[in-house]
Amino acid sequence: MMPAARERLHSWFYRPWFLAMLATALSATLLTVGSLFVAMNQVEHNESQEMNAQGERFLVRLEQLFGQLRESLDDLQAQPLRGCDDEMIATLQQVSFNYRFVYEAAYMDTSRTCSNRPRQEGVSLIRPPDIKGPTYSYWLNTTTEPDENRAALMLGRGNFRVATSRGHLTDMVDLSPGSSLLVVLDQGTRAIPVLGVAQAWPPAEPWPPKSRDALQVTHTRLIYRMPTNTPEYQLVLITPRTGMHVPAVWWWLLPASLALSACVGILVFLLVRQRQSLDAELQGAIRRGELQVLYQPIFDLDSRNCVGAEALLRWRRPDGTLTSPDLFIPMAENTGQIRQMTDFVLQRLLEQLGQLLRSNPQLYISVNLAACDVMVPRIGQVMARLLSVHRVAARQIAFEVTERGLVDVVVARENLQALRDVGHQVLIDDFGTGYCSLAYLQTLPVDCLKIDKAFIDALGHDAASSGVAPHIIRMAQALQLKVIAEGIEHEAQAVFLSSEGVKFGQGWLFAHALSAVQFIELITRGRRLSTRRLDDEA
Ligand code: C2E
Ligand code: MG
Ligand code: MG
Repeated sequence: MMPAARERLHSWFYRPWFLAMLATALSATLLTVGSLFVAMNQVEHNESQEMNAQGERFLVRLEQLFGQLRESLDDLQAQPLRGCDDEMIATLQQVSFNYRFVYEAAYMDTSRTCSNRPRQEGVSLIRPPDIKGPTYSYWLNTTTEPDENRAALMLGRGNFRVATSRGHLTDMVDLSPGSSLLVVLDQGTRAIPVLGVAQAWPPAEPWPPKSRDALQVTHTRLIYRMPTNTPEYQLVLITPRTGMHVPAVWWWLLPASLALSACVGILVFLLVRQRQSLDAELQGAIRRGELQVLYQPIFDLDSRNCVGAEALLRWRRPDGTLTSPDLFIPMAENTGQIRQMTDFVLQRLLEQLGQLLRSNPQLYISVNLAACDVMVPRIGQVMARLLSVHRVAARQIAFEVTERGLVDVVVARENLQALRDVGHQVLIDDFGTGYCSLAYLQTLPVDCLKIDKAFIDALGHDAASSGVAPHIIRMAQALQLKVIAEGIEHEAQAVFLSSEGVKFGQGWLFAHALSAVQFIELITRGRRLSTRRLDDEA
Protein backbone atom coordinates (compact mmCIF):
# COMPACT_ATOMS: atom_id res chain seq x y z
CA MET A 1 0.00 0.00 0.00
CA MET A 2 2.68 2.44 1.06
CA PRO A 3 4.95 1.95 -1.95
CA ALA A 4 1.89 2.17 -4.23
CA ALA A 5 0.94 5.50 -2.71
CA ARG A 6 4.46 6.73 -3.02
CA GLU A 7 4.56 5.60 -6.64
CA ARG A 8 1.32 7.51 -7.29
CA LEU A 9 2.71 10.65 -5.68
CA HIS A 10 5.88 10.26 -7.70
CA SER A 11 3.91 9.97 -10.92
CA TRP A 12 2.00 13.14 -10.05
CA PHE A 13 5.22 14.99 -9.73
CA TYR A 14 6.15 14.01 -13.24
CA ARG A 15 3.01 15.53 -14.72
CA PRO A 16 3.82 18.88 -16.31
CA TRP A 17 0.31 20.21 -15.69
CA PHE A 18 0.36 19.38 -12.04
CA LEU A 19 3.79 20.90 -11.49
CA ALA A 20 2.89 23.98 -13.52
CA MET A 21 -0.27 24.54 -11.48
CA LEU A 22 1.63 24.02 -8.25
CA ALA A 23 4.28 26.49 -9.33
CA THR A 24 1.61 29.00 -10.39
CA ALA A 25 -0.25 28.72 -7.10
CA LEU A 26 2.93 29.01 -5.07
CA SER A 27 4.32 31.95 -6.96
CA ALA A 28 0.93 33.68 -7.02
CA THR A 29 0.70 33.40 -3.24
CA LEU A 30 4.25 34.57 -2.81
CA LEU A 31 3.94 37.47 -5.21
CA THR A 32 0.57 38.74 -3.98
CA VAL A 33 1.55 38.54 -0.34
CA GLY A 34 4.94 40.04 -1.12
CA SER A 35 3.54 42.89 -3.16
CA LEU A 36 0.90 43.57 -0.52
CA PHE A 37 3.64 43.74 2.07
CA VAL A 38 5.70 46.10 -0.05
CA ALA A 39 2.69 48.30 -0.85
CA MET A 40 1.64 48.50 2.81
CA ASN A 41 5.18 49.38 3.78
CA GLN A 42 5.25 52.07 1.16
CA VAL A 43 1.96 53.50 2.40
CA GLU A 44 3.23 53.46 5.98
CA HIS A 45 6.36 55.21 4.92
CA ASN A 46 4.41 57.88 3.05
CA GLU A 47 2.08 58.28 5.98
CA SER A 48 4.97 58.91 8.36
CA GLN A 49 6.54 61.36 6.01
CA GLU A 50 3.27 63.22 5.56
CA MET A 51 2.77 63.38 9.29
CA ASN A 52 6.27 64.73 9.76
CA ALA A 53 5.65 67.41 7.18
CA GLN A 54 2.24 68.24 8.61
CA GLY A 55 3.64 68.39 12.12
CA GLU A 56 6.36 70.80 11.08
CA ARG A 57 3.86 73.00 9.22
CA PHE A 58 1.66 72.95 12.28
CA LEU A 59 4.38 73.97 14.60
CA VAL A 60 5.38 76.93 12.49
CA ARG A 61 1.77 78.13 12.35
CA LEU A 62 1.17 77.60 16.04
CA GLU A 63 4.31 79.45 17.02
CA GLN A 64 3.20 82.21 14.73
CA LEU A 65 -0.20 82.26 16.40
CA PHE A 66 1.16 82.26 19.92
CA GLY A 67 3.66 84.90 18.91
CA GLN A 68 0.93 87.18 17.63
CA LEU A 69 -1.16 86.74 20.75
CA ARG A 70 1.82 87.54 22.96
CA GLU A 71 2.76 90.52 20.86
CA SER A 72 -0.77 91.91 21.03
CA LEU A 73 -0.74 91.53 24.80
CA ASP A 74 2.57 93.35 25.00
CA ASP A 75 1.04 96.20 22.96
CA LEU A 76 -1.92 96.42 25.28
CA GLN A 77 0.22 96.25 28.38
CA ALA A 78 2.48 98.99 27.05
CA GLN A 79 -0.26 101.55 26.35
CA PRO A 80 -1.28 103.71 29.32
CA LEU A 81 -5.05 103.13 29.38
CA ARG A 82 -6.67 101.08 32.16
CA GLY A 83 -10.39 100.81 32.77
CA CYS A 84 -13.37 100.43 30.48
CA ASP A 85 -14.00 103.69 28.70
CA ASP A 86 -14.71 104.21 25.01
CA GLU A 87 -11.07 104.83 24.34
CA MET A 88 -10.25 101.38 25.75
CA ILE A 89 -12.92 99.73 23.56
CA ALA A 90 -11.41 101.49 20.56
CA THR A 91 -7.91 100.31 21.55
CA LEU A 92 -9.14 96.75 21.93
CA GLN A 93 -10.83 96.94 18.53
CA GLN A 94 -7.63 98.31 17.04
CA VAL A 95 -5.64 95.38 18.44
CA SER A 96 -7.98 92.77 16.97
CA PHE A 97 -7.79 94.68 13.73
CA ASN A 98 -3.97 94.76 13.75
CA TYR A 99 -3.49 91.14 14.60
CA ARG A 100 -5.15 88.64 12.30
CA PHE A 101 -5.30 85.87 14.91
CA VAL A 102 -6.77 87.97 17.68
CA TYR A 103 -10.49 87.41 17.55
CA GLU A 104 -11.31 88.94 20.84
CA ALA A 105 -9.37 91.34 23.05
CA ALA A 106 -10.57 92.27 26.50
CA TYR A 107 -9.76 94.25 29.57
CA MET A 108 -10.86 93.01 32.97
CA ASP A 109 -10.35 94.01 36.53
CA THR A 110 -12.24 93.16 39.71
CA SER A 111 -15.23 95.28 38.85
CA ARG A 112 -15.41 95.50 35.08
CA THR A 113 -14.95 93.55 31.94
CA CYS A 114 -15.00 95.01 28.49
CA SER A 115 -14.08 93.68 25.09
CA ASN A 116 -14.06 94.50 21.40
CA ARG A 117 -17.07 92.20 21.09
CA PRO A 118 -19.33 93.40 23.87
CA ARG A 119 -22.23 91.03 23.40
CA GLN A 120 -20.18 87.84 23.49
CA GLU A 121 -19.41 85.64 26.42
CA GLY A 122 -16.02 84.50 25.23
CA VAL A 123 -13.56 85.97 27.67
CA SER A 124 -15.94 86.35 30.58
CA LEU A 125 -14.69 82.99 31.74
CA ILE A 126 -13.17 83.22 35.16
CA ARG A 127 -11.06 80.18 35.99
CA PRO A 128 -7.47 79.81 36.92
CA PRO A 129 -5.18 79.63 33.86
CA ASP A 130 -4.06 76.22 32.57
CA ILE A 131 -0.53 77.44 32.27
CA LYS A 132 0.87 80.20 34.35
CA GLY A 133 4.16 81.45 33.02
CA PRO A 134 6.24 84.31 34.39
CA THR A 135 4.70 86.82 31.96
CA TYR A 136 1.78 85.21 30.24
CA SER A 137 -1.06 83.00 31.38
CA TYR A 138 -2.69 80.51 29.04
CA TRP A 139 -6.24 79.20 28.94
CA LEU A 140 -6.71 76.30 26.62
CA ASN A 141 -9.85 74.92 25.11
CA THR A 142 -11.98 77.50 26.73
CA THR A 143 -15.04 75.97 25.18
CA THR A 144 -15.93 72.59 23.78
CA GLU A 145 -18.92 73.83 21.85
CA PRO A 146 -18.51 73.48 18.13
CA ASP A 147 -18.93 77.20 17.69
CA GLU A 148 -16.51 78.62 15.19
CA ASN A 149 -16.38 81.94 16.99
CA ARG A 150 -15.77 80.66 20.44
CA ALA A 151 -12.27 80.96 21.72
CA ALA A 152 -10.06 77.93 21.67
CA LEU A 153 -7.02 79.61 23.11
CA MET A 154 -6.76 82.57 25.40
CA LEU A 155 -3.66 84.37 26.61
CA GLY A 156 -3.51 86.88 29.43
CA ARG A 157 -1.09 89.43 30.69
CA GLY A 158 -1.96 91.78 33.55
CA ASN A 159 -5.55 92.94 33.01
CA PHE A 160 -5.64 92.06 29.37
CA ARG A 161 -6.87 88.95 27.63
CA VAL A 162 -6.64 88.03 23.96
CA ALA A 163 -8.30 85.02 22.42
CA THR A 164 -8.22 83.36 19.08
CA SER A 165 -11.34 81.78 17.67
CA ARG A 166 -11.75 78.10 16.99
CA GLY A 167 -12.29 79.07 13.39
CA HIS A 168 -8.86 80.66 13.21
CA LEU A 169 -7.28 77.58 14.57
CA THR A 170 -9.07 75.04 12.41
CA ASP A 171 -8.55 77.15 9.35
CA MET A 172 -4.80 77.21 9.73
CA VAL A 173 -4.26 73.64 10.85
CA ASP A 174 -6.36 71.29 8.87
CA LEU A 175 -6.87 68.28 11.04
CA SER A 176 -7.94 65.04 9.44
CA PRO A 177 -11.00 63.33 10.96
CA GLY A 178 -10.25 61.51 14.17
CA SER A 179 -7.12 63.55 14.85
CA SER A 180 -6.52 65.82 17.81
CA LEU A 181 -4.18 68.55 18.80
CA LEU A 182 -3.27 68.49 22.46
CA VAL A 183 -1.30 70.77 24.69
CA VAL A 184 0.68 68.71 27.14
CA LEU A 185 1.44 70.17 30.54
CA ASP A 186 3.16 69.29 33.79
CA GLN A 187 6.02 67.26 32.30
CA GLY A 188 3.68 65.21 30.21
CA THR A 189 1.29 64.12 32.95
CA ARG A 190 -1.67 66.20 31.75
CA ALA A 191 -2.97 66.94 28.29
CA ILE A 192 -5.69 69.34 27.23
CA PRO A 193 -7.29 68.88 23.83
CA VAL A 194 -7.28 72.11 21.89
CA LEU A 195 -8.77 70.76 18.72
CA GLY A 196 -10.36 67.53 17.65
CA VAL A 197 -11.68 64.57 19.59
CA ALA A 198 -10.76 63.79 23.18
CA GLN A 199 -7.90 61.31 23.55
CA ALA A 200 -6.94 58.97 26.32
CA TRP A 201 -3.74 60.20 27.95
CA PRO A 202 -0.97 59.14 27.71
CA PRO A 203 -1.37 57.94 24.12
CA ALA A 204 1.45 55.43 24.42
CA GLU A 205 3.48 53.79 27.15
CA PRO A 206 5.90 54.95 28.35
CA TRP A 207 5.31 58.66 28.22
CA PRO A 208 7.34 60.70 27.47
CA PRO A 209 8.76 58.18 24.97
CA LYS A 210 12.39 57.16 25.28
CA SER A 211 13.19 57.91 21.66
CA ARG A 212 13.87 61.50 20.80
CA ASP A 213 12.19 61.24 17.40
CA ALA A 214 9.35 63.68 16.92
CA LEU A 215 7.18 61.00 15.32
CA GLN A 216 6.10 57.89 17.16
CA VAL A 217 4.24 55.20 15.24
CA THR A 218 2.05 52.81 17.19
CA HIS A 219 -0.20 50.09 15.87
CA THR A 220 -3.16 52.37 15.38
CA ARG A 221 -1.89 55.92 15.66
CA LEU A 222 0.76 58.38 14.70
CA ILE A 223 1.87 60.62 17.53
CA TYR A 224 3.79 63.74 16.67
CA ARG A 225 5.47 65.67 19.46
CA MET A 226 6.39 69.22 18.64
CA PRO A 227 9.19 70.83 20.50
CA THR A 228 8.06 74.33 21.47
CA ASN A 229 10.07 77.37 22.40
CA THR A 230 8.46 77.42 25.82
CA PRO A 231 9.43 74.71 28.28
CA GLU A 232 6.06 74.92 30.10
CA TYR A 233 4.10 73.13 27.45
CA GLN A 234 4.46 70.78 24.53
CA LEU A 235 2.19 70.28 21.56
CA VAL A 236 1.14 66.82 20.52
CA LEU A 237 -0.69 65.86 17.37
CA ILE A 238 -2.40 62.48 17.30
CA THR A 239 -3.74 60.98 14.07
CA PRO A 240 -5.31 57.56 13.51
CA ARG A 241 -3.40 55.54 10.96
CA THR A 242 -4.73 55.25 7.45
CA GLY A 243 -2.26 52.63 6.24
CA MET A 244 -4.10 49.71 7.78
CA HIS A 245 -6.31 49.14 4.77
CA VAL A 246 -5.15 47.68 1.48
CA PRO A 247 -3.47 50.43 -0.50
CA ALA A 248 -4.80 51.34 -3.90
CA VAL A 249 -1.56 50.60 -5.75
CA TRP A 250 -1.87 47.01 -4.74
CA TRP A 251 -4.91 46.57 -6.93
CA TRP A 252 -2.56 47.34 -9.77
CA LEU A 253 0.15 45.04 -8.48
CA LEU A 254 -2.31 42.17 -8.06
CA PRO A 255 -3.02 41.52 -11.75
CA ALA A 256 0.68 41.98 -12.50
CA SER A 257 1.54 39.38 -9.86
CA LEU A 258 -1.05 36.99 -11.23
CA ALA A 259 0.24 37.45 -14.77
CA LEU A 260 3.78 36.82 -13.59
CA SER A 261 2.72 33.64 -11.76
CA ALA A 262 1.02 32.44 -14.91
CA CYS A 263 4.30 32.98 -16.74
CA VAL A 264 6.14 30.99 -14.06
CA GLY A 265 3.58 28.22 -14.47
CA ILE A 266 4.02 28.14 -18.24
CA LEU A 267 7.79 28.13 -17.87
CA VAL A 268 7.65 25.22 -15.43
CA PHE A 269 5.31 23.40 -17.79
CA LEU A 270 7.70 23.85 -20.70
CA LEU A 271 10.74 22.90 -18.63
CA VAL A 272 9.12 19.74 -17.29
CA ARG A 273 7.95 18.81 -20.76
CA GLN A 274 11.41 19.41 -22.16
CA ARG A 275 12.95 17.36 -19.41
CA GLN A 276 10.48 14.59 -19.99
CA SER A 277 11.28 14.57 -23.67
CA LEU A 278 15.01 14.36 -22.80
CA ASP A 279 14.12 11.49 -20.48
CA ALA A 280 12.30 9.78 -23.26
CA GLU A 281 15.16 10.47 -25.64
CA LEU A 282 17.64 8.94 -23.25
CA GLN A 283 15.38 5.94 -22.83
CA GLY A 284 15.28 5.61 -26.61
CA ALA A 285 19.05 5.99 -26.78
CA ILE A 286 19.54 2.94 -24.59
CA ARG A 287 17.01 0.96 -26.60
CA ARG A 288 18.36 1.97 -30.00
CA GLY A 289 21.94 1.31 -28.96
CA GLU A 290 23.09 4.91 -29.30
CA LEU A 291 25.18 4.52 -26.18
CA GLN A 292 28.75 3.37 -26.59
CA VAL A 293 31.42 2.44 -24.13
CA LEU A 294 34.94 3.73 -24.74
CA TYR A 295 38.04 2.77 -22.82
CA GLN A 296 40.69 5.20 -21.74
CA PRO A 297 43.90 3.32 -21.03
CA ILE A 298 45.63 3.69 -17.69
CA PHE A 299 49.42 3.48 -17.73
CA ASP A 300 52.25 2.63 -15.43
CA LEU A 301 54.11 5.93 -15.31
CA ASP A 302 57.54 4.29 -15.06
CA SER A 303 57.33 1.52 -17.62
CA ARG A 304 54.66 3.28 -19.71
CA ASN A 305 52.85 -0.02 -20.01
CA CYS A 306 49.09 -0.11 -20.13
CA VAL A 307 47.74 -1.67 -16.95
CA GLY A 308 44.05 -1.21 -17.52
CA ALA A 309 41.39 1.22 -18.66
CA GLU A 310 38.49 3.30 -17.49
CA ALA A 311 35.16 2.62 -19.14
CA LEU A 312 33.54 5.88 -20.28
CA LEU A 313 30.07 6.26 -21.74
CA ARG A 314 29.34 8.10 -24.95
CA TRP A 315 25.97 9.02 -26.41
CA ARG A 316 26.23 9.23 -30.15
CA ARG A 317 22.98 10.55 -31.63
CA PRO A 318 21.69 9.30 -34.98
CA ASP A 319 22.82 12.57 -36.60
CA GLY A 320 26.35 11.82 -35.46
CA THR A 321 26.59 14.41 -32.69
CA LEU A 322 28.14 13.35 -29.40
CA THR A 323 26.50 14.31 -26.12
CA SER A 324 28.94 14.63 -23.24
CA PRO A 325 28.44 12.33 -20.25
CA ASP A 326 28.82 15.43 -18.10
CA LEU A 327 25.41 16.41 -19.48
CA PHE A 328 23.43 13.20 -19.64
CA ILE A 329 24.86 11.34 -16.61
CA PRO A 330 23.54 13.89 -14.06
CA MET A 331 20.16 13.77 -15.79
CA ALA A 332 20.12 9.99 -15.76
CA GLU A 333 21.04 10.12 -12.08
CA ASN A 334 17.99 12.27 -11.43
CA THR A 335 15.56 10.08 -13.32
CA GLY A 336 17.04 6.81 -12.09
CA GLN A 337 17.93 5.74 -15.63
CA ILE A 338 21.55 5.62 -14.48
CA ARG A 339 20.98 2.09 -13.11
CA GLN A 340 20.15 0.88 -16.57
CA MET A 341 23.21 2.65 -17.89
CA THR A 342 25.57 1.16 -15.34
CA ASP A 343 24.19 -2.28 -16.17
CA PHE A 344 24.67 -1.51 -19.83
CA VAL A 345 28.31 -0.50 -19.30
CA LEU A 346 29.04 -3.65 -17.28
CA GLN A 347 27.38 -5.92 -19.79
CA ARG A 348 28.93 -4.24 -22.83
CA LEU A 349 32.38 -4.19 -21.26
CA LEU A 350 32.34 -7.92 -20.58
CA GLU A 351 30.94 -8.67 -24.02
CA GLN A 352 33.63 -6.58 -25.71
CA LEU A 353 36.60 -7.23 -23.48
CA GLY A 354 35.77 -10.58 -21.80
CA GLN A 355 38.14 -12.46 -24.02
CA LEU A 356 40.92 -9.86 -23.57
CA LEU A 357 40.54 -9.92 -19.79
CA ARG A 358 40.62 -13.70 -19.67
CA SER A 359 43.86 -13.79 -21.61
CA ASN A 360 45.44 -10.84 -19.72
CA PRO A 361 44.75 -11.61 -16.08
CA GLN A 362 46.75 -8.56 -14.92
CA LEU A 363 44.57 -6.17 -16.90
CA TYR A 364 41.64 -4.43 -15.21
CA ILE A 365 38.81 -2.15 -16.28
CA SER A 366 37.36 0.42 -13.94
CA VAL A 367 33.73 1.44 -14.10
CA ASN A 368 32.20 4.67 -12.85
CA LEU A 369 29.38 4.23 -10.36
CA ALA A 370 26.69 6.78 -9.62
CA ALA A 371 25.61 7.67 -6.09
CA CYS A 372 22.52 5.49 -6.32
CA ASP A 373 24.57 2.49 -7.45
CA VAL A 374 26.52 2.71 -4.23
CA MET A 375 23.45 2.94 -2.03
CA VAL A 376 22.08 -0.56 -2.84
CA PRO A 377 23.81 -3.94 -3.09
CA ARG A 378 22.40 -4.47 -6.59
CA ILE A 379 25.68 -3.85 -8.47
CA GLY A 380 27.39 -6.71 -6.67
CA GLN A 381 24.69 -9.13 -7.80
CA VAL A 382 24.64 -7.93 -11.42
CA MET A 383 28.42 -8.10 -11.53
CA ALA A 384 28.63 -11.58 -10.03
CA ARG A 385 26.22 -12.94 -12.65
CA LEU A 386 28.11 -11.33 -15.54
CA LEU A 387 31.51 -12.41 -14.23
CA SER A 388 30.42 -16.02 -13.96
CA VAL A 389 28.93 -15.96 -17.48
CA HIS A 390 32.12 -14.46 -18.95
CA ARG A 391 34.50 -16.27 -16.62
CA VAL A 392 36.36 -13.13 -15.68
CA ALA A 393 37.97 -12.63 -12.23
CA ALA A 394 36.39 -10.05 -9.91
CA ARG A 395 39.78 -8.44 -9.34
CA GLN A 396 39.78 -7.37 -13.01
CA ILE A 397 36.85 -5.05 -12.50
CA ALA A 398 37.34 -1.93 -10.38
CA PHE A 399 34.68 0.56 -9.34
CA GLU A 400 35.06 4.33 -9.19
CA VAL A 401 32.94 6.28 -6.78
CA THR A 402 33.06 10.03 -6.28
CA GLU A 403 33.11 11.73 -2.90
CA ARG A 404 29.68 13.06 -3.84
CA GLY A 405 28.46 9.50 -4.13
CA LEU A 406 29.23 8.78 -0.50
CA VAL A 407 26.33 10.73 0.92
CA ASP A 408 25.23 8.05 3.32
CA VAL A 409 28.57 6.74 4.49
CA VAL A 410 27.24 3.88 6.57
CA VAL A 411 25.30 2.30 3.72
CA ALA A 412 28.00 3.11 1.16
CA ARG A 413 30.74 1.61 3.32
CA GLU A 414 28.79 -1.62 3.68
CA ASN A 415 28.21 -1.97 -0.07
CA LEU A 416 31.75 -1.03 -1.01
CA GLN A 417 33.14 -3.49 1.53
CA ALA A 418 30.96 -6.20 -0.01
CA LEU A 419 32.45 -5.42 -3.43
CA ARG A 420 35.98 -5.59 -2.04
CA ASP A 421 35.21 -8.81 -0.22
CA VAL A 422 34.58 -10.59 -3.55
CA GLY A 423 37.80 -9.14 -4.99
CA HIS A 424 36.88 -5.88 -6.74
CA GLN A 425 38.96 -2.78 -6.27
CA VAL A 426 37.33 0.43 -5.11
CA LEU A 427 38.64 3.81 -6.29
CA ILE A 428 37.74 7.30 -5.19
CA ASP A 429 37.30 9.35 -8.37
CA ASP A 430 37.88 13.10 -8.74
CA PHE A 431 39.59 13.06 -5.39
CA GLY A 432 40.14 16.50 -3.87
CA THR A 433 37.04 18.09 -5.32
CA GLY A 434 34.81 16.96 -2.44
CA TYR A 435 35.16 17.16 1.29
CA CYS A 436 36.85 13.88 2.15
CA SER A 437 39.33 14.37 4.94
CA LEU A 438 42.14 12.07 5.83
CA ALA A 439 40.32 10.88 8.93
CA TYR A 440 37.21 10.17 6.90
CA LEU A 441 39.17 8.40 4.21
CA GLN A 442 40.66 6.05 6.77
CA THR A 443 37.23 4.72 7.57
CA LEU A 444 36.38 3.89 3.94
CA PRO A 445 37.08 0.56 2.29
CA VAL A 446 39.11 1.99 -0.58
CA ASP A 447 42.16 0.81 -2.59
CA CYS A 448 43.04 3.80 -4.67
CA LEU A 449 42.64 7.56 -5.10
CA LYS A 450 42.26 9.21 -8.48
CA ILE A 451 43.58 12.76 -8.28
CA ASP A 452 41.24 15.07 -10.15
CA LYS A 453 42.39 16.58 -13.42
CA ALA A 454 42.08 20.09 -11.96
CA PHE A 455 45.05 19.47 -9.64
CA ILE A 456 47.12 17.90 -12.40
CA ASP A 457 46.39 20.92 -14.63
CA ALA A 458 47.63 23.19 -11.86
CA LEU A 459 51.00 21.46 -11.75
CA GLY A 460 53.62 23.87 -12.98
CA HIS A 461 51.07 26.56 -13.89
CA ASP A 462 49.61 27.77 -10.71
CA ALA A 463 52.00 28.00 -7.82
CA ALA A 464 49.25 28.46 -5.23
CA SER A 465 47.34 25.23 -5.86
CA SER A 466 50.07 23.17 -7.43
CA GLY A 467 50.78 22.16 -3.88
CA VAL A 468 47.54 20.24 -3.66
CA ALA A 469 48.56 17.25 -5.77
CA PRO A 470 51.75 16.50 -3.77
CA HIS A 471 49.68 16.87 -0.62
CA ILE A 472 47.10 14.35 -1.83
CA ILE A 473 49.90 12.02 -2.90
CA ARG A 474 51.50 12.10 0.53
CA MET A 475 48.13 11.60 2.13
CA ALA A 476 47.49 8.52 0.00
CA GLN A 477 50.97 7.17 0.71
CA ALA A 478 50.39 7.57 4.44
CA LEU A 479 47.24 5.52 4.10
CA GLN A 480 48.94 3.02 1.79
CA LEU A 481 46.55 3.77 -1.04
CA LYS A 482 47.42 3.53 -4.71
CA VAL A 483 47.26 6.80 -6.68
CA ILE A 484 46.15 7.36 -10.26
CA ALA A 485 46.64 10.80 -11.75
CA GLU A 486 43.87 11.83 -14.13
CA GLY A 487 44.08 14.10 -17.15
CA ILE A 488 47.83 14.10 -17.75
CA GLU A 489 48.37 16.14 -20.91
CA HIS A 490 52.06 17.04 -20.73
CA GLU A 491 55.21 15.00 -20.40
CA ALA A 492 56.44 17.31 -17.64
CA GLN A 493 53.40 16.43 -15.53
CA ALA A 494 54.04 12.70 -15.97
CA VAL A 495 57.69 13.10 -15.03
CA PHE A 496 56.88 15.21 -11.99
CA LEU A 497 54.14 12.85 -10.78
CA SER A 498 56.40 9.86 -11.24
CA SER A 499 59.11 11.58 -9.21
CA GLU A 500 56.54 12.23 -6.47
CA GLY A 501 55.90 8.49 -6.29
CA VAL A 502 52.67 8.27 -8.31
CA LYS A 503 52.65 4.93 -10.07
CA PHE A 504 49.74 5.27 -12.48
CA GLY A 505 48.29 7.86 -14.78
CA GLN A 506 45.75 8.40 -17.50
CA GLY A 507 45.36 11.27 -19.90
CA TRP A 508 45.57 12.54 -23.43
CA LEU A 509 49.36 12.47 -23.25
CA PHE A 510 49.10 8.68 -23.47
CA ALA A 511 45.73 8.04 -25.09
CA HIS A 512 42.24 9.37 -25.56
CA ALA A 513 39.26 7.17 -24.83
CA LEU A 514 39.45 4.31 -27.34
CA SER A 515 36.91 2.03 -28.90
CA ALA A 516 36.99 -1.59 -27.77
CA VAL A 517 38.70 -2.60 -31.02
CA GLN A 518 41.40 0.03 -30.59
CA PHE A 519 41.94 -0.87 -26.97
CA ILE A 520 42.24 -4.60 -27.75
CA GLU A 521 44.73 -3.76 -30.46
CA LEU A 522 46.76 -1.68 -28.03
CA ILE A 523 46.97 -4.54 -25.55
CA THR A 524 47.47 -7.43 -27.91
CA ARG A 525 50.22 -5.71 -29.86
CA GLY A 526 51.82 -5.20 -26.48
CA ARG A 527 52.95 -1.93 -27.81
CA ARG A 528 54.98 0.12 -25.43
CA LEU A 529 53.78 3.64 -25.63
CA SER A 530 56.31 6.31 -25.25
CA THR A 531 55.17 9.86 -25.78
CA ARG A 532 53.19 8.94 -28.87
CA ARG A 533 49.55 9.17 -28.14
CA LEU A 534 46.70 7.21 -29.68
CA ASP A 535 43.87 9.13 -31.18
CA ASP A 536 40.37 9.14 -29.89
CA GLU A 537 38.13 6.91 -31.90
CA ALA A 538 35.64 9.78 -31.96
P1 C2E B 1 35.69 10.86 -14.79
O1 C2E B 1 35.25 9.54 -14.30
O2 C2E B 1 36.55 11.68 -13.90
O3 C2E B 1 36.37 10.63 -16.16
C1 C2E B 1 37.48 11.30 -16.62
C2 C2E B 1 37.10 12.28 -17.65
O4 C2E B 1 38.24 13.03 -18.00
C3 C2E B 1 36.59 11.67 -18.94
O5 C2E B 1 35.65 12.56 -19.51
C4 C2E B 1 37.84 11.62 -19.78
O6 C2E B 1 37.59 11.59 -21.17
C5 C2E B 1 38.47 12.92 -19.40
N1 C2E B 1 39.90 12.94 -19.61
C6 C2E B 1 40.78 11.92 -19.47
N2 C2E B 1 42.02 12.32 -19.74
C7 C2E B 1 41.96 13.63 -20.08
C8 C2E B 1 42.93 14.60 -20.46
O7 C2E B 1 44.13 14.37 -20.54
N3 C2E B 1 42.48 15.85 -20.70
C9 C2E B 1 41.16 16.16 -20.62
N4 C2E B 1 40.76 17.42 -20.88
N5 C2E B 1 40.22 15.27 -20.27
C10 C2E B 1 40.61 14.01 -20.00
P2 C2E B 1 34.27 12.03 -20.01
O8 C2E B 1 34.42 10.74 -20.68
O9 C2E B 1 33.65 13.16 -20.72
O10 C2E B 1 33.50 11.74 -18.67
C11 C2E B 1 33.11 12.75 -17.84
C12 C2E B 1 32.54 12.21 -16.57
O11 C2E B 1 31.32 11.53 -16.84
C13 C2E B 1 33.42 11.17 -15.92
O12 C2E B 1 34.39 11.75 -15.18
C14 C2E B 1 32.43 10.41 -15.09
O13 C2E B 1 32.19 11.09 -13.87
C15 C2E B 1 31.17 10.50 -15.90
N6 C2E B 1 30.98 9.22 -16.59
C16 C2E B 1 31.47 8.83 -17.77
N7 C2E B 1 31.07 7.56 -18.06
C17 C2E B 1 30.31 7.16 -17.01
C18 C2E B 1 29.61 5.93 -16.69
O14 C2E B 1 29.63 4.96 -17.40
N8 C2E B 1 28.92 5.89 -15.51
C19 C2E B 1 28.91 6.96 -14.66
N9 C2E B 1 28.22 6.86 -13.51
N10 C2E B 1 29.56 8.12 -14.93
C20 C2E B 1 30.26 8.22 -16.09
MG1 MG C 1 36.03 8.13 -13.48
MG1 MG D 1 37.67 11.79 -12.55
